[in-house]
Amino acid sequence: MAPPFTAGERALFLDSKQRRYLVTLAPEGEFHTHAGFVRHDEVLGQPEGVTVRSTGGARYLAVRPTLSDFILKMPRGAQVIYPKDLGPILLLADVFPGARILEAGVGSGALSMTLLRAGAIVTGYELRADFASRAQENVGAFGGPEMLSRYAVQERDVYEGIDETELDRIVLDLPEPWRVVKHAEQALHPGGILVAYLPTILQVAQLREALADSRFGMEESLEVLQRTWHVEGQSVRPDHRMVAHTGFLTAARLVGD
Ligand code: SAH
Repeated sequence: MAPPFTAGERALFLDSKQRRYLVTLAPEGEFHTHAGFVRHDEVLGQPEGVTVRSTGGARYLAVRPTLSDFILKMPRGAQVIYPKDLGPILLLADVFPGARILEAGVGSGALSMTLLRAGAIVTGYELRADFASRAQENVGAFGGPEMLSRYAVQERDVYEGIDETELDRIVLDLPEPWRVVKHAEQALHPGGILVAYLPTILQVAQLREALADSRFGMEESLEVLQRTWHVEGQSVRPDHRMVAHTGFLTAARLVGD
């Protein structure tokens, strides 16, 4: 059984309208709402799934945040990759425990956390010092010292080259990934996988041209559409709104000449 909530960890509070709040639990802490506040002490020592009441009578369900919950609530500088695309990236890149991965740019660290959660050892290249430190803070907040011990972020431009060699995977979320293809040929071992996330299809076409002119093969490009459903009594149908576009995913493997 999962241990009860302890001080210092994060809880996700859900109100009656399913709105979500990420709260760091502290002894004598208070979570303030429109209906008074919830004492953290009501949650500390309780198992996940406990329902507590605010001083004004509102009910809140408390559970531990999942990786998706955390990503959607964490402090962000750069635009993050959303869970819809993060899941597929894990399988396209075939991430495994102990995989040595180079990631660029790191941004807010949403993708980093996902790779680390799957057990990878991640080196991140990031142009901006403020994003590099934000990402490391987010990774530490989600995964603690063990996760941080598998994560190193360097403030540098991946277009200028990659120092690592014999990498298993390279995962890119930056505007001109075609400028990384030549470096990736040197940095990956044969069979290694490159995955890039790109918001526009002209970028995808330009990346595919660079890949076609390289030692990479087995290229594929795709987009992931996620349609959520409204399920309430007899009213069972797709939700009226959906996110029509985030980005395109492209994967390729280093296969030789
Ligand atoms: N995937 C990240 C978001 C990345 S946003 C997440 O899920 O949180 C893109 C990042 O790439 C920005 O932080 C930007 O500073 C960085 N970047 C852009 N060009 C780069 C380059 N040439 N080398 C390293 N980082 C770069």
